[in-house]
Amino acid sequence: MPMTHKPTILVVEDEEDLRDIIIYNLEREGYKTIGFESGEEGFEQAISEKPDLMILDLMLPGMSGMDVCRNIKQGSDNQSLPIIIVSAKGEEADIVSGLELGADDYLAKPFSPRILLARVRTVLRRSERKAATEENEDT
Ligand code: CA
Repeated sequence: MPMTHKPTILVVEDEEDLRDIIIYNLEREGYKTIGFESGEEGFEQAISEKPDLMILDLMLPGMSGMDVCRNIKQGSDNQSLPIIIVSAKGEEADIVSGLELGADDYLAKPFSPRILLARVRTVLRRSERKAATEENEDT
């Protein structure tokens, strides 16, 4: 199925192997990706590059994924950016906090590429629908 607009997905994950796997699978599906290993860079890119979706690891050196999520969802620049948080097992409390902060979905590590892609498709579809509704309300 050809995509008219190639969504851009920002991947923030400090484990290089996992980041590579996520990016590989997303690009194979036809998405554009930008990858970063730190929360600071991820946050800056989320504001400057206006990606369509962000995949965000919670345990990052420096600025945590939680801080990134909070700053985006409570900020004024790119509040509507959908975020899927990625978290290791045993961090359920963090997942709950992330969702309460406005994250759109979560993935518990380890996850299969098929699950990742299914979640990405669902969140993108939901956000496109939301954008379309908001446009209609404006007119
Ligand atoms: Ca990590």
